[in-house]
Amino acid sequence: MSDPADLRGFETRAVHAGQAFDPTTGAVIPPVHFSTTYAQDGIGGLREGYEYGRSGNPTRTALETQLAALEGGAHGLSFASGLAAEDALLRSVLKPGDEVLLGDDVYGGTYRLISRVLGPWGIGVRVVDMRDLGAVEAALKDRPARIVWVETPSNPLLHITDVAGLARLGHDAGALVVVDNTFASPALQQPLALGADVVVHSTTKYLGGHSDVVGGALVLDDDALYERAKFHQFAVGAVSGPLDAWLTTRGIKTLALRMQRHSENAQAVAEFLAGHPKVARVHYPGLVDHPGHELASRQMRAFGGIVSAELADAASARRFAEGTRLFQLAESLGGVESLMNYPDEMTHASVRGTALAVPEELVRLSVGIESVDDLLADLDRALASL
Ligand SMILES: *Cc1c(COP(=O)(O)O)cnc(C)c1O
Repeated sequence: MSDPADLRGFETRAVHAGQAFDPTTGAVIPPVHFSTTYAQDGIGGLREGYEYGRSGNPTRTALETQLAALEGGAHGLSFASGLAAEDALLRSVLKPGDEVLLGDDVYGGTYRLISRVLGPWGIGVRVVDMRDLGAVEAALKDRPARIVWVETPSNPLLHITDVAGLARLGHDAGALVVVDNTFASPALQQPLALGADVVVHSTTKYLGGHSDVVGGALVLDDDALYERAKFHQFAVGAVSGPLDAWLTTRGIKTLALRMQRHSENAQAVAEFLAGHPKVARVHYPGLVDHPGHELASRQMRAFGGIVSAELADAASARRFAEGTRLFQLAESLGGVESLMNYPDEMTHASVRGTALAVPEELVRLSVGIESVDDLLADLDRALASL
């Protein structure tokens, strides 16, 4: 069995944290525990604290240990989806009358959850461009916020926010600072080390990495907040099932390798699109003319696998999105296969007409780990037919 001192490097943690071999058989891969209940050694005599599948499951514990180790946090919690994780956090922290200060380009479902599910229970939401720390400071002076919530890089415009600067401002104003780290993944960016209080993930994306399991996670240091969020996980019950937890664990073992290839391929795709006459504008933090390039170079280990691009008009963007063959037209992102998305009518349809609306000329590419020449040829062919 490995000792915690052996698990210093990120890649080592991804493979080994929470993954000790089975003590009874020596199986190198820990078994998937499907049991919903646990035999007690006398009333209340629980082995390792396991009692019932909603309150705890060893496969879920393995994933939660792995997630905490990757983000460098004290505690991990795993949920049935990214939004279930967000809901657990929000309802653990907020009371009626509290407000959330939200980045103006966060995941549409996050905005929908806060405004339409929690709104009727008395939770307010304000939206600000988090790249502009002066605007954030002014917004927090204007009225306190209980939570400051940011996504960086953001979706779909790949805006980069200074997490350390934002954490200082948030803490000065008494707010909890939350980073949705889904786009970067812990392989490229670790927000707790930059000063954030809580990291949120849709593990459906890069952590799972194979487009075959929906899940979400929280990672945090604070013991009291962990106990509240864990109570919420238990009392509401949006937990990951054992097979979901295991698939996510398996995906995570190759996270670092995948993120490296996603980033290399995305850089090549961004450069190709930026040089193409039919593409008006490319958003990718790895391009030197991206406004967040320098900040991203400091804050991230690489620039990630998402590229967005503006075509001449909405009609061209739609035709481009429907014209690729390897890049499949589908929602979601972060899997090994390349996906194409038309945000205005697909992923971001729920924020049409709000402050979070996206340009109609925009397509978003989730660049996979295929041979880069094949990806570029696919894009070239689709652009040629516009
Ligand atoms: C997909 C996504 C979510 C929501 O996660 P689900 O697993 O779909 O519930 C939250 N944040 C970001 C950035 C996402 O991409």
